[in-house]
Amino acid sequence: MKAVSSFKFRVSSSNSAIDPKPETRNPKPFGLYIHIPYCLSRCHYCDFNTYRLDDAHVQQYLDGLAQEITLRASAMAIRDRRVCSVFFGGGTPSILQASQLIGILDHCRAAFTFEDGVEVSLEANPGTVDLPKLRTLWEGGVTRLSVGVQAVQDRLLQRIGRAHAACEAKRAFWLMREAGFSNINLDLMFGLPGQSIGDWSETLDWAISVGPEHVSPYGLILEEGTPLHQEHRQGEIGLPDEEAEAVMYGMAVDRLLDAGFEHYEISNFARPGFRCRHNLVYWHHQEYLGMGAGAHSFLAGRRFYNELLPASYVRAISERGTAVAGDEELSAEMLRSERLMLGLRLRAGLDVQVFKDVLSIEDLSASDRVTRLLDDGFLRVKEGRVQITERGLLVANELIVQLL
Ligand code: SF4
Repeated sequence: MKAVSSFKFRVSSSNSAIDPKPETRNPKPFGLYIHIPYCLSRCHYCDFNTYRLDDAHVQQYLDGLAQEITLRASAMAIRDRRVCSVFFGGGTPSILQASQLIGILDHCRAAFTFEDGVEVSLEANPGTVDLPKLRTLWEGGVTRLSVGVQAVQDRLLQRIGRAHAACEAKRAFWLMREAGFSNINLDLMFGLPGQSIGDWSETLDWAISVGPEHVSPYGLILEEGTPLHQEHRQGEIGLPDEEAEAVMYGMAVDRLLDAGFEHYEISNFARPGFRCRHNLVYWHHQEYLGMGAGAHSFLAGRRFYNELLPASYVRAISERGTAVAGDEELSAEMLRSERLMLGLRLRAGLDVQVFKDVLSIEDLSASDRVTRLLDDGFLRVKEGRVQITERGLLVANELIVQLL
């Protein structure tokens, strides 16, 4: 890991003082990520960089964010490039007032150059939205909402420490529609403690019946250090076994495909034309700039990240003029491996030639690892692309590790 000081942004108060010749402009668009590190309470499975909402410090955080937006927009790697997507993630961005969120968005719009039709996504949790807030967000330019529904059984939501009841999630969805949103994602979770296949089926039925544009069914991951992980170690929770999880995932795939969704990434399904632009930036290994506490960026072959704690982030911005806490120049090999890892998550897979380049092989049959996965039906080659098969989807992460 290189020292922070080895990476410097060019700081300027103006974003338009020098206009580089058109031929020197980098035409590649990039994504913006804005981290809002606050939640109503902490879910029992969560290891994200998020904290209980603390009104006393929110304004300081927003001031720091505004400063970072101004400073970053003048960096050479970004100047004269267009933003294709903005993603407010967290945490629970919708915990803030709509005027605060639109203030950040307006600041970004003024500081950066947005593409026409830029996607602006915001993560919204039930219990933190009402109609006036949603209307202000819609009118202020938020184009897509991602709602953390997870399950439609109150006992399961309580078990994993969600701060909302199922009826609040259902109501939030209709309020979003009423406010004008026509691009809504529902996050759902399977493999929860005490969740039966019937529960999961009921959650999927509800999700499909309300007609969202996008659904993300995720399997629960027991992250070290979380209360659920602790309970699991002490043998206090009964989780669905691997076989039940496979049934749940397969059920999600079948039901969502039947309902007309495209399965475009392992855990993501969209109606035609509604794939998440921002997440595609990550999966296509395109560049992005993350701002806010702990946010990561990938620009000009480097990966860098901000101070994790909101207080340290705010202090660093005001004292040093940057909150970057660490950065790393990625070698050509690391970049290729990342491309393989991310590309294989997409159902479309990876171009065969790129796949061969990453593994430094002339021919697929020259690699025992590859031929074994092909023969065992975990990988396939289709129309010039290497793809993970239906059989391989549930163990995709292990497959990728085996390949690398
Ligand atoms: S709402 Fe999301 S970010 Fe917040 S604690 Fe729960 S899982 Fe974590």
